Amino acid sequence: MADKSTTSESTQEKVTQTAEAPPRKIYPIVKYGDAVLERPAATIKKFDAELEELSEDMFASMYAAQGVGLAAPQIGKSIRLAVVDVSNGKNPEAKIVLINPEVIHAEGEVREEEGCLSIPGFRGYVIRPQFVTVKAQNLKGEPFEIRGENLLARAFCHEIDHLNGILFLQHLSMLKRDLIKRKIKKLRKEGEW
Ligand code: ZN
Repeated sequence: MADKSTTSESTQEKVTQTAEAPPRKIYPIVKYGDAVLERPAATIKKFDAELEELSEDMFASMYAAQGVGLAAPQIGKSIRLAVVDVSNGKNPEAKIVLINPEVIHAEGEVREEEGCLSIPGFRGYVIRPQFVTVKAQNLKGEPFEIRGENLLARAFCHEIDHLNGILFLQHLSMLKRDLIKRKIKKLRKEGEW
């Protein structure tokens, strides 16, 4: 999910790596129109070092793109892995890796503007639960539950949607959705998408 500052020049500090940390791979973000974004991703069954590396690379890619959430299909990998950090990399404790996640409880409603790293430059109002409880697995394959409120709940829902091939556009009114789709079509024709 895109941060609020995505459409403007950000002066935020980038996350600095410690000297010992291996250099991370920054993946390009797949944009709307690529079929990988609109198909359900595969369940992860293998919990190994490769998956851990990939999740760290996804955090790095997400921070580079100034996002607060990134799902594996957005880097072209159709697997049920997503990373979330609503602190924008400021708080290492806020890094959340979700593997095979599902929403098991939702409460309340909040209507707020939302954006997506795969649909840069466009935002729209989406109603999401105020509170959600997500059940997922960690990098070791151990199950856990995590509760999110407001922006964190929104990020969980947005990223889990990605793993199901759903984009935030699908939550907008048909009018707004068609308008955005038309603008993207025009951008694509001009070679700017
Ligand atoms: Zn997104």
